[in-house]
Amino acid sequence: MSDSNRLERAHDLEPPHSRRRAESRDLADSLGLADPDLLRTDGYVGGRWTPADAGRRFDVVDPATGAPIAAVADMGAAEARRAVDAAEAALPTWRALTAKQRSAVLRRWYELMVAHADELAAIVTAEMGKPLGEARGEIISGAAYVEWFAEEAKRAYGETIPTHDPAMRLVVIKQPVGVVAAITPWNFPFSTIARKAAPALAAGCTVVAKPAEDTPLSALALTELAERARIPPGVLNVVTASDPAAVGAELTSNPAVKKISFTGSTEVGKLLTAQAAGTVKKMALELGGNAPLIVFDDADVDAAVGHAIVSKFRNGGQTCVCANRILVQAGVYDEFVDRFCAEAAALRIGLGTSEGTDIGPLINEQALAKVQRLVAGAVADGATVRIGGSPNALGGTFYETTVLTDVSGDMDITAEEVFGPVASIFRFDTEDEAIAEANDTPYGLAAYFFTRDLARAWRVGEALEYGMVAVNSGLLMTELAPFGGVKESGIGREGARAGLEEFLETKYLAIGGLA
Ligand code: NAP
Repeated sequence: MSDSNRLERAHDLEPPHSRRRAESRDLADSLGLADPDLLRTDGYVGGRWTPADAGRRFDVVDPATGAPIAAVADMGAAEARRAVDAAEAALPTWRALTAKQRSAVLRRWYELMVAHADELAAIVTAEMGKPLGEARGEIISGAAYVEWFAEEAKRAYGETIPTHDPAMRLVVIKQPVGVVAAITPWNFPFSTIARKAAPALAAGCTVVAKPAEDTPLSALALTELAERARIPPGVLNVVTASDPAAVGAELTSNPAVKKISFTGSTEVGKLLTAQAAGTVKKMALELGGNAPLIVFDDADVDAAVGHAIVSKFRNGGQTCVCANRILVQAGVYDEFVDRFCAEAAALRIGLGTSEGTDIGPLINEQALAKVQRLVAGAVADGATVRIGGSPNALGGTFYETTVLTDVSGDMDITAEEVFGPVASIFRFDTEDEAIAEANDTPYGLAAYFFTRDLARAWRVGEALEYGMVAVNSGLLMTELAPFGGVKESGIGREGARAGLEEFLETKYLAIGGLA
């Protein structure tokens, strides 16, 4: 991780095991966890909870208060290498299981996630800050991917091809890719790991996961449940670290790792791709977005406002599929802006643990600084602040729900992901203008538009250069559908049948001598 303050806070000395467990139990008590063993602070390698070699630890902080809540093993390249070794050793046995056997294990894992959803949500909120209701939604959504892939494991079908030679038969079989490294961000600390580990394990791969430094506790809780679900030692390993570069360099250069599945920024995705080129690994990249949300004159404005609010402000605006640019046609512009501002102003900012909170804190101070820079730059370049525009009175990393109008295409706030509760609204006149504006970005993850004209729905849906387009909806994520981007938003898909294919190799068997 890039944050030198965090590195400075890393602990040099390993506290005795008993003291660490006592600290975890204190935190478990403060979170109201009935099952304190869900709070793990060591990495997990070869089926063992494992501290870092030098005993180093780093603090995980509550973004709502800035207070340290746990000290987690600060692992490096050597531990990552051992995790890869463990995953490689576990591979032959795991991939030799029948799909039905792997499915049964994943099903147990899914059921444990659902049974512990409230406790897992409390852990997500403690380290990430999102409101508890949203955190619970994240657990259920992540678990749904595990349920889906537990079933889909049984359908890794190959094919037979009509032969060109009567003495031969042509057959295609699917086999697991091998050891997979999964690197994930902080904004969905539970579900992003579940979305990668579930299809990988279903396919017969083994996994080394590296969660974000800000939010390792959710990944470790998920792993505790994996252990209880009797996922065999070495099949799922977790390396926690405050220096992602060292672990990333190992995972991308180790020849035993056959695939990198990364969710995070486009910048880091490009870096990992370059690093992995030396051993020609398969890459799956879920990267940044710059989603347009277009409201046409013929839209149901009520629905458009409601969906735009959810799309923009869910997770405090910290999602890759957030509406980053809201484009509204001239005929409904004033009505939309007034109603959108009224609904946005009614959102309650507060602690994720407080009843009724809609928006929690930003993840850390760099995130706050980025939002402040983008808003200040937009205002300096002529944008108008309709509501908000400054840090919230709660202090820390809380930021006001903000709406800007008179935003233009040449501002930084238009080009970059805001990743905060700031909505930028543009006015447009024609459909062609909206499509050109929407596509004018190197990103291509999600796009949304609102219209009641069926012909326009098809026309615009096909013209938008995005991996996912929602018509008359601000939400599109489900385990049933392929999630992913085009252009610089990524390569590959998560969820659906395509999500399993990501972890399968295609092998062609030419069987001769049959005459
Ligand atoms: P990030 O800085 O790219 O970090 C993502 C992960 O990569 C973290 O685990 C991070 O570790 C690690 N990392 C950073 N530098 C690395 C390196 N040199 N080598 C190996 N690993 C490295 O992204 P973020 O700020 O956490 O997350 C926000 C970004 O993720 C946004 O751009 C968002 O759009 C994107 N995102 C995309 C999707 C999608 O499905 N397309 C979903 C969610 C988020 P540290 O935490 O220790 O830095």
